[in-house]
Amino acid sequence: MRVLVLNCGSSSIKYELMDMDNGKSLARGTIAKIGEHGSYIEHESGNTKIRNEVKVANHEAGFKIMMSHLMAGKGRVIKDASEVSAVGHRVVHGGEGFSDSILIDDGVIRKIRECIPLAPLHNPHNLAGIEAARKYFPKIPHVAVFDTAFHQTLPQKAFTYPIPYEMYEKFRVRRYGFHGTSCRYVSARAAELLGRPIDSLRMVVCHLGNGVTLDAIRNGKSVETSMGLTPTEGLMMGTRSGDVDPGVVYYLSTAAGLSLERIYDILNRESGLLGVSGVSNDMREVIEQAKKGNPRCKLAVEMFAHRLKKYVGAYAAVLGGIDALVFTAGIGVNSPLIREKACSGLSFMGLELDRAKNRAAIGREADISGSDSRVRVLVIPTDEEKMIALDTVEVARGLGKKAPSDALGSKTRRRA
Ligand code: ADP
Repeated sequence: MRVLVLNCGSSSIKYELMDMDNGKSLARGTIAKIGEHGSYIEHESGNTKIRNEVKVANHEAGFKIMMSHLMAGKGRVIKDASEVSAVGHRVVHGGEGFSDSILIDDGVIRKIRECIPLAPLHNPHNLAGIEAARKYFPKIPHVAVFDTAFHQTLPQKAFTYPIPYEMYEKFRVRRYGFHGTSCRYVSARAAELLGRPIDSLRMVVCHLGNGVTLDAIRNGKSVETSMGLTPTEGLMMGTRSGDVDPGVVYYLSTAAGLSLERIYDILNRESGLLGVSGVSNDMREVIEQAKKGNPRCKLAVEMFAHRLKKYVGAYAAVLGGIDALVFTAGIGVNSPLIREKACSGLSFMGLELDRAKNRAAIGREADISGSDSRVRVLVIPTDEEKMIALDTVEVARGLGKKAPSDALGSKTRRRA
């Protein structure tokens, strides 16, 4: 069964075609600058890499260009469109309506549309992708996989903000959390690597990419997560501030005379690593300049690690101790320095890092815990596309989503 996975942004389509009979990726690519000057497609299959400058007016046109690259030319991997059996769509916000992946029909599309006010920068583009794909493939199943769904298991005391309760009742202002698909994949994979059932494990997953999520997972269920109503809450990120005193907003508007829109922009696009370092939102560059002695880059690195450690401690407390700490996404998988700083001084909770193993673990799965460590420290590259494809297969086959412990390929299937 071949599954096409789509992740549509405002001006991009990321795609991957997977053969789910063997779990292998057949081709992947990105269409970028949709509707802008200089749009192009980058397509990769096996050893073939193609980059074509093409005019792409909208998502529908982009979808057709993607299909033509999958079916023809040097990067061809299928004879015709009938070889695609289902499409899995990444959808950022499912609000409170979706706690699981779901077969898309008109009612589901309506509900995703209703979530647009919660994710105005994402859901409209996810919908554009769904609409283009359904038009092209009207007869095959389309499945929506939500970033927020995994966190719908958060207890009320964790998802409610301590503000007037009517704000929740009237406007659904609460914590939703994001990166759920990544956290679900990584936690299931961690259980596999540890050789233990996921429903016996307490773990903290650190998804450290441009966006950052920390997730406390008990028995395969998310019980606390660091992003909130929007992805701005939580840890320090590439350009997002993470937690700041909400009083900062009022103060900046009065003391600096900034508009709400401008402050929103500052907190989301000009803060985090970029804002503090003044150099870049890219951790590699910030670390490089820190090593050369740039004081603001040094500060940005120290702040990032300090805030990370603070959250790890808090989440370990929520879980009553942890069995595993898992690092994933660009920084988590590639930066021994950040992992070392975040883990230093955590021996009081039974966590010891093996420094040599940590330094050697770059871009691949590894157990980097010290031999005496009660907490296993793991590095696991995330694979959101695979998780979306697995869900798509399950939903398309009408079996419901796999239980987390089965999520990565055990033969046993049961309802989550
Ligand atoms: P996205 O959230 O966009 O998917 P990624 O998961 O690709 O992001 O992570 C991007 C982040 O990973 C960037 O801050 C980048 O600098 C960082 N990163 C990648 N490689 C390294 C490295 N070797 N050392 C430190 N940071 C790295």
